[in-house]
Amino acid sequence: MKNLNLQTKAQNTWCPGCFNFVILWAFQEAIRELIKERKLQKKNLVVVTGIGCHGKIYDYLDLNGFYTLHGRVIPTAVGIKLGNPELTVVGFGGDGDTFAEGIAHFLHACNTNPDITMLVHDNQVFALTTGQMTPTTEKEYKGPSSPEGKKTNPINPITLALAAGASFVARSSATHKQHLKRILKEAIVHKGFSFVDILQPCITFHNTAPYLSKRIYDLKKERYNPRNFDLAFQKALEWNYSLDQKSRIPIGIFYKKRRETFEEGFFQLKKPWYQVQRKVNYRKLFHH
Ligand code: SF4
Repeated sequence: MKNLNLQTKAQNTWCPGCFNFVILWAFQEAIRELIKERKLQKKNLVVVTGIGCHGKIYDYLDLNGFYTLHGRVIPTAVGIKLGNPELTVVGFGGDGDTFAEGIAHFLHACNTNPDITMLVHDNQVFALTTGQMTPTTEKEYKGPSSPEGKKTNPINPITLALAAGASFVARSSATHKQHLKRILKEAIVHKGFSFVDILQPCITFHNTAPYLSKRIYDLKKERYNPRNFDLAFQKALEWNYSLDQKSRIPIGIFYKKRRETFEEGFFQLKKPWYQVQRKVNYRKLFHH
């Protein structure tokens, strides 16, 4: 399916060598393969992006989409899905976008389980605005908004998602492109809210690539079972997003379970809204 062109003619303004290029490649390959396997139709795919370096991916993908407000990727994606449940909706957010401005939306989506996919380009920094700390930035990080060093510990999005009830929780890394492609495919076909935290070093303001590449290991190689919630929590606690020297960093699907989606709970959405015949009795409505 090499001839399925998902590329646009927009000039790419990511820094040369940025790991966002790997995410773009992995997503395009995942989409091509899913279309070839007849699990997806290009016309039914919609992408939503937030604000940050990640958001530019919208410009480089020849797909239907919506460039939304800072932190509002998830409510926009849910709105699109509720409007037409036949669509496959994929959201892209940054770590600042999703875990600072958008944290409430993230937790509620984990809980309510709308059938959308949320991919977070987690470079542990606000990169577009030159390197301010985000909720996943390590303690003691020095940047424009924390010249004396960040005073709080990073949050762990994997434990947060598990605790909030997400039905698909995964981590991958832009340093491992084939792994990333595989996880993206599984996340997109999962029925329910699928969350993938993609470690994406920002080579200009927060280059964690040397740290990550020495410590990452694939859960699949350990014959890990992603259906065991307790084990998922234990694995999620192996790395707390600090840059300590002792941690190993698991990547892969931590947890996966089929449960009722947000849309399935609504009898009004048994059919797409545009197929529902509404019989309005105007005589009765305007009768005095
Ligand atoms: Fe990539 Fe960082 Fe440059 Fe943004 S600032 S394009 S995340 S390298």
